[in-house]
Amino acid sequence: MRKLKREVKIGNITIGGTNPVAVQTMLNKPVKDIQGNVEQAIRVAQAGCQIVRVTCPTPEDVKTIEAVKNAVDIPVVADIHFDYRAAIACAQAGVDKIRINPGNIGDDDRVKQVADICNQKNIPIRIGVNAGSLEKEILAKYGAPVPQALVESAMGHVRLLEKHDFNNIVISIKSSNVPRMMEAYRLLSEECDYPLHIGVTEAGTYRMGLIKSGMGIGGLLMEGIGDTLRVSLTDEPEKEVETGFDILRAAGFAVEGPEIISCPTCGRTNIPVAQIAQEVEQRLKEYKKPIKVAVMGCVVNGPGEAREADIGIAGGINEALLFIRGEKIRMLRGDIVGQLVDEIYKL
Ligand code: SF4
Repeated sequence: MRKLKREVKIGNITIGGTNPVAVQTMLNKPVKDIQGNVEQAIRVAQAGCQIVRVTCPTPEDVKTIEAVKNAVDIPVVADIHFDYRAAIACAQAGVDKIRINPGNIGDDDRVKQVADICNQKNIPIRIGVNAGSLEKEILAKYGAPVPQALVESAMGHVRLLEKHDFNNIVISIKSSNVPRMMEAYRLLSEECDYPLHIGVTEAGTYRMGLIKSGMGIGGLLMEGIGDTLRVSLTDEPEKEVETGFDILRAAGFAVEGPEIISCPTCGRTNIPVAQIAQEVEQRLKEYKKPIKVAVMGCVVNGPGEAREADIGIAGGINEALLFIRGEKIRMLRGDIVGQLVDEIYKL
């Protein structure tokens, strides 16, 4: 059961409530490389990214935020660490969301200035707590960045904003330790009704990053927790976006595009399953409908094993059996991939 949180509007995307879980990423070009950031933002938007974050360490770097905003239609989030003036500059420039921890920007007057301008312009703020940068006092109290410590830190930042009547808040509470991160989000979800941005931070290079994110993000989604997600990979942001959608799909959420189901192959396999599955995936890159396509190695077990698929093939000797929603249709010979793709477009 999805845990329903209050709705927060980030540009043209609304998260929380029953809205779809939005997939986001962060650009990784140097902030001074405006052209590089613009090109990368266009690439991630083309990959389906729904919210893009760009760092803005100083007020001058708002130029990069503005250039990215002009280049893409998706909401742009400014990532601010310590400089409240950068947050104000981004708000004035019309950024769609600001990620900032009010406890890191100095006295209360600064927090008020940021909260006031964001309130005026209806710009949400994401509080982003990371296990690696917990406040010293909290770390000393708990001895380690345990889930309770992360929650205490997040709620401390929340109160600094609420004090100035600011409630347009999203929270993340990340750790590179999957069990800890999951428990922290569970506790936080009980504690407040602000929508949650979920992710495993510093998840690692591609392979381990996929596994940790699949477990942490996917596990929480299946518990009904999470309103927007970011997969963190030491890799290109487009891959983070792709992975985000695949995790949603694997967790049972309706996602545009095909899901390829393919068998692991065995001694009975008659066709090059891996090659065909990859080719089908490639040829369906632009296909938008949510559809399950099966590529199975044999006619004996294939159709049965792929019962959940909308359409699929099962390999015979030099041919493949086409089946649609469990019904055997006909044998395909010759260009099997081409004929399967044609049939998919006819559905
Ligand atoms: S579908 Fe057929 S070829 Fe594929 S793993 Fe199952 S039995 Fe083996």
